[in-house]
Amino acid sequence: MNKCDTNLTKDNKYPNYFLFRSKINQYFVSFSYCILSNCQAVCYKIKYIITTLFIVILMSLSHLAQAQISVNNTIDPTDTELNNAVHFLQQYLAEFAPGKQYMPDFTKYWPAEDCQRYRIPDKMIYAVNSEIPTYMLGRARILYAKPEGSLIHAKVMFSHTDSIGNVLVTSITNHYISKQADGSYKFISPIQLQDATWRSTQYGHIAYHYPSYHKFDKGKTRQLAGKIATLEKEWQLQPIDIQYYFADTREEIDHYRGFDFTISMGNRDKPSGISDGIDNGIWCAGLGEDYFHEVVHLYLNPLYPHAPLVEGLAVFYGGSLGHDLQWHLKRLDTYLHQHPEIDLNNIDNFYYMDNYTNPLNTIQGLMCLMAYKKDGTTGLKRTMNYNTFFALLKKEYGIDNKSWNTFLRDKIAEYAK
Ligand SMILES: [Zn+2]
Repeated sequence: MNKCDTNLTKDNKYPNYFLFRSKINQYFVSFSYCILSNCQAVCYKIKYIITTLFIVILMSLSHLAQAQISVNNTIDPTDTELNNAVHFLQQYLAEFAPGKQYMPDFTKYWPAEDCQRYRIPDKMIYAVNSEIPTYMLGRARILYAKPEGSLIHAKVMFSHTDSIGNVLVTSITNHYISKQADGSYKFISPIQLQDATWRSTQYGHIAYHYPSYHKFDKGKTRQLAGKIATLEKEWQLQPIDIQYYFADTREEIDHYRGFDFTISMGNRDKPSGISDGIDNGIWCAGLGEDYFHEVVHLYLNPLYPHAPLVEGLAVFYGGSLGHDLQWHLKRLDTYLHQHPEIDLNNIDNFYYMDNYTNPLNTIQGLMCLMAYKKDGTTGLKRTMNYNTFFALLKKEYGIDNKSWNTFLRDKIAEYAK
């Protein structure tokens, strides 16, 4: 479970959502993604939008399970093959309606080899948000469906319209549908269709996948291997086989996975990543072969599924957005001095600072740094066993909620030096 997103898991007012998630959790034991750009500075801002949006969707679209997925442009009713493919896509998307309690049976929709290789063969499902499937983030509308060679290519927009007509688009996705010899249909992964322009290199337990313009950097792979070896030793963990996808920019990664657009696109490029604890995948950009932050998520998130500081642990070990924890602490300290009105007693309200530093992730990282300075890895393990930030500060430092602002400002200033 992603812990970039602690608000979402603390609030218990979305029963359908949590029912859905709990069933997924029974099926997929260790889902661990960072939310959106996760591990990104924009993460909390967009998370806020998405969380709000999702509540609205649950409240207003409870009938969606029965609703037909609409089509934007008329599809020739005499073109049976095209209509059958669109119907197949509509059936699949309907599996993600809020009322549904289980993930779909992917073997009905995806080729057997994809289902054998991945527990979730559709790599767009958790690419926008780490906990809410892409296809639940708004009302689906099929924009386009057209034969391309032996496939049918469809584009779908997911959006929400508010009460005064503003449209919030969360994603535009691409789907490729193939007719099988027995007359049934299956999806072909957008990734598979682009694989000719990507390269793969195995290094130890990591299978790297990257665009052909990239010159593979063995120095960086060795750096990452060294960090992983230390982490495995400190935490007494066995190696994990990782599928590691990277490119120069996050938008390239999103396009590779099948998106024309996601709500996390825009703003200046910066290193960012997202990890997939179900299929042990990493999708990252900007740091080449050495994106340790996401590797830490794959190793340590499963140990602490309910801890509020999982994101902080990854920031402590691997930095965030291309910079180490110290760099973020200095920026955060400066920002807090410039903004005395910010009240860290209400810490969840301080979810956004700018495009480069996520204040909550930085504070989480600081908590891990303080624990490590106090008692090393043993201190970190103890810290990760608290289920709330409140309990952590109370028991470890004797600080109650009314003193968080003073305590955290002082500690940020102290460790920023
Ligand atoms: Zn992260």
